[in-house]
Amino acid sequence: MSVIVGVVNETSELERRVALTPEVAAKIRKWGWHVMLESGAGVAAGFPDSDYGDCEVVDDAHSVLNRADIVFRVSPPDAAFFKATKTGACIIGFMSPFSSPERFQVAAERHQVVFAVELIPRTTRAQAMDALSSQAAVVGYKGTLIAAGESPRFFPMLTTAAGTIRPSHVLVIGAGVAGLQAIATAKRLGAIVTAYDVRPETAEQVESLGAKFLDLGVQAVGEGGYARALTPEELAQQRQALKDFLGKVNVLITTAAVPGRPAPKIITADMARNMKTGSVIVDLAADGGGNCELTEPGKTLEIDGIKVVGPLNVPATVPMDASLMYSRNLYNFSTLLNKDGALDFDWDDEILAGSVLTRDGQMVHPVLTGEKS
Ligand code: NAD
Repeated sequence: MSVIVGVVNETSELERRVALTPEVAAKIRKWGWHVMLESGAGVAAGFPDSDYGDCEVVDDAHSVLNRADIVFRVSPPDAAFFKATKTGACIIGFMSPFSSPERFQVAAERHQVVFAVELIPRTTRAQAMDALSSQAAVVGYKGTLIAAGESPRFFPMLTTAAGTIRPSHVLVIGAGVAGLQAIATAKRLGAIVTAYDVRPETAEQVESLGAKFLDLGVQAVGEGGYARALTPEELAQQRQALKDFLGKVNVLITTAAVPGRPAPKIITADMARNMKTGSVIVDLAADGGGNCELTEPGKTLEIDGIKVVGPLNVPATVPMDASLMYSRNLYNFSTLLNKDGALDFDWDDEILAGSVLTRDGQMVHPVLTGEKS
């Protein structure tokens, strides 16, 4: 019996991506795996059913979830999804493992093997599977375009018959994957770009993109190369130094995150108000509550002449390319599960062991069990 891979329509309100593109469906079928698709699953991403060639297309999600051995998803599922999915099935996708952990008890009771792509170790070997990175690149790119679209000013310097227009000055806070892509995009648009991060190694990466690194004298490297939360003293120092600098910039793009915690509130209302009239803040941490106190996730506000934009699920706004990258990430991950056409889990593999939330009828990951990894 062939392994059956299933994909159903994403049900989250803003989701437009699809977890399996026609390109990856064709590659998976070469393994001898059978692909089942709920009709319309790829349409919002720009992939009609007809693009999926010989894959089996059915009219309802129920038929797919009843039969699939592996389900590929984008947005985190709710408990009802686990209930609707076959006992013993494997489910791979974004899981938001830190929120509503009780969902995974349902999956465990149904002996489902659930992998959270957010927990795939950030190792060299796992790079091609790293969905956090591929989707963060989309966030950074689109975030800069949102800022350019909302700004009342050009990004580049323009020399015209009507005189010279000075370039915009953009500050990017958080120089991880999203921030570096935001910097690169703003540079391509001709802005003067400065960036800031608490991880000192980002200075070189920022400068290699032609931007300036802002040194505020606060460093906070935590576990696994990620940032840690700042102490109250560090936060106060950061805020004071940043407030002065914000008075000089036209655009602020924030991307700061600390894994498993709400986004750090780096920009207070008072600091934001120090920006010039006509300035724009694009808070790319809005999904996690935002880096700016003025941000209202999902809204664009105009406060005292400053626009504050808190876009949600930004990768879904570039659905075709975001899906292409995400689906390739899942394909590369699935190569670890394919043993000569059969489904097999090698729990000695650090990538599988590091990202599995439930297996053998239990919640097993430390983020769910509370044990130290
Ligand atoms: P992230 O989304 O967790 O955070 C975004 C950025 O915000 C990070 O650069 C972080 O340092 C910064 N930040 C957090 N708190 C801050 C604060 N108070 N002020 C300013 N900046 C703050 O980061 P990410 O993009 O997922 O990357 C995190 C790490 O993972 C980095 O070290 C990155 O190089 C690494 N990484 C490794 C691989 C790999 O080797 N396969 C792939 C991707 C990322």
